[in-house]
Amino acid sequence: MTQLVLSGCYVLTMDAARAEHPSGYVVVEGNQIAAVGAGPVPDTYAEARVIDAAGCLATPGLINTHHHLYQWATRGRAVDSTLFQWLTELYPVWARIDAQVVRDAATAGLCWLARTGCTTSTDHHYVFPRRGGDVLGATVAAARDVGLRFHPTRGSMDLGASSGGLPPDDVTEDLDAILAATSKAIADFHDPLPGSMLRMGVAPCSPFSVTGELMTAAAGVARDHGVRLHTHIAETADEDEYCGEHFGCTPVEYLDSLGWLAEDVWLAHGVHLDDAAIARLAATGTGIAHCPSSNARLGAGICRTADLLAAGVPVGLGVDGSASNEESSLIGEAREAVLMARAAGGPQALTVRQSMELATLGGARLIGRAGELGSLEPSKLADIALWRVDGLAHADIADPVAALVLGARPPLELLLVNGRPVVEHDELTTVDERAATKAAARAAAALR
Ligand SMILES: [Zn+2]
Repeated sequence: MTQLVLSGCYVLTMDAARAEHPSGYVVVEGNQIAAVGAGPVPDTYAEARVIDAAGCLATPGLINTHHHLYQWATRGRAVDSTLFQWLTELYPVWARIDAQVVRDAATAGLCWLARTGCTTSTDHHYVFPRRGGDVLGATVAAARDVGLRFHPTRGSMDLGASSGGLPPDDVTEDLDAILAATSKAIADFHDPLPGSMLRMGVAPCSPFSVTGELMTAAAGVARDHGVRLHTHIAETADEDEYCGEHFGCTPVEYLDSLGWLAEDVWLAHGVHLDDAAIARLAATGTGIAHCPSSNARLGAGICRTADLLAAGVPVGLGVDGSASNEESSLIGEAREAVLMARAAGGPQALTVRQSMELATLGGARLIGRAGELGSLEPSKLADIALWRVDGLAHADIADPVAALVLGARPPLELLLVNGRPVVEHDELTTVDERAATKAAARAAAALR
């Protein structure tokens, strides 16, 4: 089996002891990590291909727990709006997406995630125009092209404006059609085996775009197939108000009443949470995908990250859709998570290492793969980011982890996904970035 050794780098393992090796090595065998340690590479690996990684920082590949990849084609719109204003402006544009637009937008979004250290991404796709073709399949094809581990979710909306929802009726689907398409997507794409490169999830969109009937039925489908559940919750004050008006309770109480607080559920945002909601999330093991840039871009508020972690709630990071993030860099979210937590709660509210934990182990836990992903340890999958921290922006910074999280985004010397190089010397190796850029521009132009 091919052996590859990263030698002489600073190693942030994220193992149980949170060990760090200022000069260490990582050995990769096939698609798994074979050894990690301090000092020079043991003689046992004399025959392996050795990469001189001096001046670099090795971290577990980052895990993105919330995204809407198709939105790459609709960035730069409604730039000074609240979530509800932004959605209202964008729904009619999204109603015109098709499989080609989604393929090109998703390819660009995944390329950028790879360039920013991400090895596994989820996607929440919930817009299925009647004549749009196989838009979910387009995201799957894009992930195969780029080479990232992919956890797409079959999203949905069935509560249109005529029934009291926010989206126009023409971007919603019929409940039975949604359930049938969801089961089909799981049958077509889901791979439950260890080392899987693709696992499906089920993800009705939000309390103001989905009926309670769909929430309950979708949970049934997911649990029948053993796949995970995902949705948006407690993102804005407007949503809080909507839930009070329509359901007579808070968003988290609403989810609780639908059987949606459980260990197989992770929720995007969780910004507007009271103490009771946080306690309930912790007691049920329900996870939160924290999306700081999107929350700031839309002026939604600041997630109570420190309180969630103190209560024991599983927390990961997400870039959220490209149209509410605009940059969609996962290492950027690690930085924003620290800054936002500290802006709200002081300098001890979140450490740079805690933020890296959210971006790695935290994300792995949210998608049910903490046994395989999220740390550099023997027998885990070889998803590794190797950051160059000896250039102009970072050379000789006292703490390389602080350089990565608080400093400028470092060049990515190498990104391995399942042992395969996806980025080398800060360039994609799997797809032609210039061609992907042109295709993404065409996709955006097609919607204007
Ligand atoms: Zn979202």
